[in-house]
Amino acid sequence: MQLDDCLFCRIARGEIPAAKVYEDDEVLAFKDIHPKAPVHFLIIPKKHIQSLAHAEPEDNALLGKMLGLTRKLAMQEGAVNGFRVIINTGRDGGQEVDHLHIHVLGGPQPWTK
Ligand code: C5P
Repeated sequence: MQLDDCLFCRIARGEIPAAKVYEDDEVLAFKDIHPKAPVHFLIIPKKHIQSLAHAEPEDNALLGKMLGLTRKLAMQEGAVNGFRVIINTGRDGGQEVDHLHIHVLGGPQPWTK
């Protein structure tokens, strides 16, 4: 299920443009519009899950698939010497967009400091 007014649901539906790096029937990955590293993209489920704290046990396979895609897509996007995975969760976790997303950051240093 998707929400009409959720930003990332709208990106998943193609209503808002994004620089896609991967797409299948369940998952979309696109470049972050405010990159914090030479490589910075987001992996989202196409269905609306508010945050990691809202994922249900039946979402575990989808979450595993998304985590598995981090390595493949990091290589594809040029983060060949390592990368960082972040899932901001809830307000105190720094989450600003209320649709679960995995940040993948990488590329040549310096950017982690
Ligand atoms: O984890 P958090 O919710 O703070 O991160 C949201 C991320 O979504 C930000 O890094 C922001 O730059 C990104 N974003 C985006 N495209 C949009 C809106 C936000 O890549 N249209």
